[in-house]
Amino acid sequence: MTTTTTNHGREFFGHPKALVICFLTEMWERFSYYGMRALLIFYLTQHFLFSDETAAGIFGAYISLVYITPVLGGIIADRYLGPSKAVVLGALLLVAGHLGMALEGTQAVEQAGASGLQVIRDTFYLQTFYFSLALIIVGVGFLKGNISTLVGSLYEREDPRRDGAYTLFYMGINLGSFLGAIICGFLLQYKGFSWGFGAAGVGMLAGLVVFLKGKHLFGGAGEPKQPALLAAKTRLGLSQEWIIYLASFIGVFLCWQLMQMPSVVGGLLGASLVIAVALVVIYAFTKCEPVDRDRMLIALFLMSYQVIFWSLFEQTASSLSLMTDRNVDRVVFGFEIPAAAFQSINAFFIITLAPLFNILWLTLAKRGWEPSTPTKFALSLIQLGLGFLLLVYGAGLATDPTQVAVLWIVLLYLLHTTGELCISPVGLSMTSKLSVPSVVGMMMGCWFLASAAGNYVSGTIAAMTGSATIRGEVADPAAALQTYMDVYQTAGLYSIAAGLLALALVPIIKHYMHNA
Ligand code: GLN
Repeated sequence: MTTTTTNHGREFFGHPKALVICFLTEMWERFSYYGMRALLIFYLTQHFLFSDETAAGIFGAYISLVYITPVLGGIIADRYLGPSKAVVLGALLLVAGHLGMALEGTQAVEQAGASGLQVIRDTFYLQTFYFSLALIIVGVGFLKGNISTLVGSLYEREDPRRDGAYTLFYMGINLGSFLGAIICGFLLQYKGFSWGFGAAGVGMLAGLVVFLKGKHLFGGAGEPKQPALLAAKTRLGLSQEWIIYLASFIGVFLCWQLMQMPSVVGGLLGASLVIAVALVVIYAFTKCEPVDRDRMLIALFLMSYQVIFWSLFEQTASSLSLMTDRNVDRVVFGFEIPAAAFQSINAFFIITLAPLFNILWLTLAKRGWEPSTPTKFALSLIQLGLGFLLLVYGAGLATDPTQVAVLWIVLLYLLHTTGELCISPVGLSMTSKLSVPSVVGMMMGCWFLASAAGNYVSGTIAAMTGSATIRGEVADPAAALQTYMDVYQTAGLYSIAAGLLALALVPIIKHYMHNA
């Protein structure tokens, strides 16, 4: 077994030191992403006074675009920029986007008009808001997949430390998410939206500095594969590299417009999925040896499980967040916890449980009992469904028809987290392992594209839970709670059914993985 630690700095807890740079950069990126996202649904419904349905549509479009762009970011890094330049570009766009979100302006107002209540919003600030989201979307596109690929590039394909490295990396993600949701959530409660969003921007700036300081540790793995191609002048008189930077600004402009037409995002997503699947299938059949071909196709198939997973899991920052605000008794020991801060529970459980899961998988592996990747994926869907059913059960026990005890939402997040640990870090590692190295960036992009599809559907499901509101407050809290529970019960049952079906498919999938 060969290892490549010497190329990437001295060892750090048995891993290349460069892993720390991936860990910290992604930690700060996720700090900003999740910190901002914890506030977003409230910004839409309480600051801009969008209805629940419209807010869920905008939210779903945003969280899906954020995961569509990594496909392009991956391809551009594979062919031209190399991961390091892509990460730096992404980080710069992200800092700008998050700081732009801090420009809050005045709150929208409801006014009686000829056709009933009309909402008046300040156009300048609304456009600044959409533009900032667009910067974040393109920024994540350049950063997220490529920093994930850089982790894998530190190890040879067969290196047994790879899964452990991704688990550590995933803890970095969640440390960022945990701190982001708590800090931004409390800043929102006590200082307002601009403070919360501004803190996200400052966090991302820290991530940029960390990466700039440590990027030399990646050596050749971070560099462009063909530097000459990148420096070559195009017919426009600019180098290929500058054309990419210009194109990314055109990308920002497009996303700015797309954010204002959430339904178009669905079509774009569908088209991206078709193109991405076609690219991978064509590549697998024309450029790969039979074993690699089967592995690539299985990786693609397993990625599709994520659509179901994230469509339900991602209720967290949309419908579950609003439900927590409206229908969960959030007073603990006399202290009211802000609804946005509940977004840190999942990350907290990941940080505490990921090491235990690592030990569990290793212990089982020693006996030859470790569940295979497709089995873990199936189990994740079952746990996700059980989480929803527990919440529905708990809501049924409440004596007050408008309030659920906080325990049940915590239990839901616990099961959703154990489910996440069976799919998300496992899938990152699977993608970097089953893919042919020359297209691993593209495959990582496809992994996130599947997340994007799930995230988009999550917006549609969240819209089904919507209730009538007046100035951001629900008119009938008991009816609202009932609507949430009806949707969650159906979601839970479908998820469990999908998980059972996935379990039945495990033997076939394992056969085509060729012991990977
Ligand atoms: N929570 C993980 C992250 O932010 C996974 C997200 C996803 O793939 N949808 O990286």
